[in-house]
Amino acid sequence: MPDAGLYIHIPFCEKKCGYCDFYSVTNRERQEEFVSGLLREIELLAPQYRHWRFDTVFFGGGTPTTLPLKAL
Ligand code: SF4
Repeated sequence: MPDAGLYIHIPFCEKKCGYCDFYSVTNRERQEEFVSGLLREIELLAPQYRHWRFDTVFFGGGTPTTLPLKAL
């Protein structure tokens, strides 16, 4: 059983900083759609990784706190 960390990219920011190469957008109109898609992807991939042990979950971005609290 492999050990692994899980990284979840939240690609939304309040503003786009000129020096930043991480993928993010400032238009947050599709946040709900993004979260639904992310949950669906997790559901689809979960069986494939059911024997893995994830000891870390990291939320990056972007700015994860741009998501509404309930979505986060
Ligand atoms: S991820 Fe951080 S540094 Fe990059 S654009 Fe967003 S706020 Fe700026």
